[in-house]
Parts: sequence; C-alpha cells; structure tokens
Amino acid sequence: MNVQPIASHFIDGQYVEDTAGIPLPVIYPATGETIATLHCATPAIVDRALAAAARAQVAWAAMTGTERGRILRRAADIMRDRNHDLSVLETMDTGKPYQETSVADATSGADALEYFGGLAGSLTGEHIPLPGGDWAYTIREPLGVCVGIGAWNYPTQIACWKTAPALACGNAMVFKPSETTPLCALKVAEILTEAGAPPGLINVVQGAGEVGAQLVTDARVAKVSLTGSVPTGKKVYAAAAEGMKHVTMELGGKSPLIVFDDADLDDAVGGAILGNFYSSGQVCSNGTRVFVQRGILEAFLQRLTERLQTAVIGDPMDPETNFGPMVSEAQLRIALDYIAKGVDEGARLVTGGMRIDKPGAWITPAVFADVTDDMAIAREEIFGPVMCVLDFDTEDEALTRANATEFGLAAGVFTCDLARAHRVAAGFQAGTCYINSYNDAPVEMPFGGSKLSGVGRENSKAAIEHYSQLKSVYVRMGRVEAPF
Ligand code: NDP
Repeated sequence: MNVQPIASHFIDGQYVEDTAGIPLPVIYPATGETIATLHCATPAIVDRALAAAARAQVAWAAMTGTERGRILRRAADIMRDRNHDLSVLETMDTGKPYQETSVADATSGADALEYFGGLAGSLTGEHIPLPGGDWAYTIREPLGVCVGIGAWNYPTQIACWKTAPALACGNAMVFKPSETTPLCALKVAEILTEAGAPPGLINVVQGAGEVGAQLVTDARVAKVSLTGSVPTGKKVYAAAAEGMKHVTMELGGKSPLIVFDDADLDDAVGGAILGNFYSSGQVCSNGTRVFVQRGILEAFLQRLTERLQTAVIGDPMDPETNFGPMVSEAQLRIALDYIAKGVDEGARLVTGGMRIDKPGAWITPAVFADVTDDMAIAREEIFGPVMCVLDFDTEDEALTRANATEFGLAAGVFTCDLARAHRVAAGFQAGTCYINSYNDAPVEMPFGGSKLSGVGRENSKAAIEHYSQLKSVYVRMGRVEAPF
C-alpha cells in the first residue's frame, strides 16, 4: 500500500503542498522504515486554512441542521465502506495491530459522524415563559472556526470526535494531527469532502507544536479542542485564555482500577489487560494503577501472568497479532526509562518490560507488583505497556488511595457487590468510570476528565454544549415602564 498522501495538507477542499515547510518523515513503528515524507505547515499554509474555514463556516451555518447532518451521515457510510483501507493506514501510522484498528478507529470515527449527523437536525434553542406574558427564547449558535489538535494514539478517532460535533453545530474545523501520525486525518477530510462538505469546512494542516500554537493564538479561532498531555494542555489552555476562546482539554491520566476479592477473577484480569495493554498501553484512560485486595493478590498475578503469555506479538498487519510496537523510538525510551526506575525504586517486575531485539519500537508488556503509592511509576503517566499492581485491605483505603492523584480521567471497579460498585463509582474523582468493565467509549456516553485530566466532554449530547453557544432574546409583550 502506498501511504504517501497526494500532499501534506488538505485546505479548501483539496490537497495542498508547500515544500518550504520542514520535512516530516512518517516512520512505520513496526520496522522503523520511513513510509512517507510530508512537510510541516508554513505560516502561509496556516493562514490559508484559517481563511478558508472562516469563509466556509458562514454558508455552512446558514444551512439547516438536517442538511448538515445528511452530509455527516454520508461520510460515516463512506468511512465504514473503506474500513479495511483506513484500518491499514491507521496501522501504518501508529503501529497498532490491524486486529485493533479494524474495530476501533475508523469504526469509532464513523460512529461519531453518524451520531452527530443524527443530532444535527434537533439542535435548537428553547422557549421560556416569563411573568406578565413576556417571554424569552434562546438560539443555539455555532462558535465559528474551531481548531482541533490531536495526540498520536488514535489519529482517525480523535479527528472525528472533534470534527463531527463541531460540524453538526455549524462550525468549521482546522485540524492539526500529531506530527508523529499525520496520515489518517487527511483521509477524514477527504471523505467528508466527498460526502458533500463544502470546500474550506474541514482543513488539515501538518506540523509540530509551533503550528498548533499559531492556530491557537489566531484571532479568527473561536474554540480549541486539544487531545494531549497535561503540560501541553496547560500551555494551550493559557494561550486560548488570552483570546477568551472556548476550550475542550482531553488530557492524560494515571487512572485507578480497584479489584475487590469478590470479583470474577477472569473478568477482572481481562479488564486489567484491556486497561493496560490495548494499543500497547498508549491509551489516555488506561487503568495503570491496579489496586487488588490482598486476599486475591497472588491468584490475580498468577492468572494475569498466564494470560499475558498468550499475547501474540508480531507483524501488526497479521490479523492474529494482538500486541504491536509502541508508536516511536522516543515513546519506547520513555517506557523503558520508567521500567528501570520502577526496578530501582524496589518494585517487583513480575513479567515483561524487555525491549524486543528487532527493528522498530518493540517491548513486551510489563507488570510490576509490590508497587507503593509514592513510586514514580505509580504517580506519573507512562503512556506505555506498564501495569502497576498495588495491594489494599479495605474499601475506604482503596478509594482514598485511588483518588490521591492530580489526574482524574477514568477509574474502574470490579466487584460482585452491587451496592459497593455504585458506592465506589460515586466516590471516584474521575470523569469516566467503569463497573466490571474498562475503557469502553461508546459515542453515546460523555468522555472526559476532571482535575488535571481536562475540561469539557467529548461524545454524547454533552459535546454539543462545547461546540455551540446560546443567545438569549427577551421579548416584552406590554408597554415599557421607565422610572422617569
Ligand atoms: P502532546 O501533549 O505532546 O501533544 C498533543 C498535541 O499538541 C500534538 O499534536 C502536539 O504537536 C501539539 N502541541 C504541542 N505543543 C503545542 C503548543 N504549544 N500549542 C499547540 N499545540 C501543541 O501529547 P502526545 O501527542 O504525546 O499524546 C500523548 C498524551 O495525550 C498523553 O498524555 C495522553 O494521556 C494524552 N491523551 C489524552 C486523551 C484523552 O482523550 N484524554 C486521548 C489520547 C491521548 P506535536 O506532537 O506534533 O509536536
């Protein structure tokens, strides 16, 4: 498959190149080979994209929601038809196994386009009766030009999760993918355009942080939605605040997963595997602090170790492979450094954590036991396949320790005690919680974090609030009474 795109950027309905930009090699993480070379956007390219978006947004907002929704739903259908090719591209971009990408990326993007396409026609204001026969009404208006900035772990999904609600509400989008995974968002723009999105409505520009920063500070931009790390989130939030822009911040985490001794052991082990090793551990909401009640600790570790031996690590394009490389050499290095730190801090490396001796960013899934709350591996986001297992005795203790973090993205609990499950979920300081499950992200459910993990919510009807604003109109039906 030739993955070199027609050009680096997608602006005003077509592919655009500007070779004056810094070259951007795309590396296939499974082999370390360069599979395409793009160019970062120059300031002139960024300006063109924003100008196109500002122009297209006006006409798009004047269409009915039903008309806008039809285009989004058509794009969802095209995406599903092309799921195979889009999944192969996602695998080339990220290294994630095809077994995952074929069910979790373009499909999730299509779900968002379909869901928000369906909602578009129902987005209205409301009528508010007031004393004396007066009344008010609200008009739900788009914000204008939205900027989306993506992380590298889910390039298709992130582009769709931001673009679909933005467009449904009548906004235009300029999206900047991570420089590590620049390929997939171009396809999202191409498909939306093919589905009927007018030129300029969805634009993709490539580049690293400087391009993101240029977008965020431009006066034409009304809203910024970032998926990325907490340090980047702080910078982008502060830059957006200068222009009082709306923001959505989907940031990092160090989420807890509490396993009580009455839990179904295999389900809990399965949840911990999904919540730590899917996408080679590169998932923001991962439950990387696994608190296991002392009585079942050894049984849990034994079952976990047995199941990890059955992981199929190999060619990501092989449908049997279920554990691929990390996204880059740089990200692998970060994970290996944390593993060395964990050993130094006195944690017990139960299994994995070894670099696999072949080209590409390969590592075996790692499990640490005897982890204590103060260790760096238990406090900091690693964003790699490194699970920390901690033991606990009581529910109160587990919840207090689970919440003792600056992050608040997700949290999970495994137990067969119904009342305890809901009590613990209510006590979690996290935006997205799971009972006897982990890491599900259906489009119908709000997704996002509390504390340093972010502000705003993606997906669900909640996202509409973050891509539109209300105008209130007061209507007086009688005479105006003034004091003089
Ligand atoms: P980064 O924070 O490094 O980058 C995120 C994006 O922001 C990239 O496109 C990056 O560009 C861009 N960027 C960097 N600096 C600036 C700036 N000053 N102004 C504007 N844009 C900027 O995150 P990663 O790409 O390394 O992704 C991993 C992080 O993302 C993890 O912390 C993870 O938890 C989080 N994440 C959160 C999710 C959520 O929904 N909550 C989901 C997925 C990931 P470039 O990288 O090209 O330099």
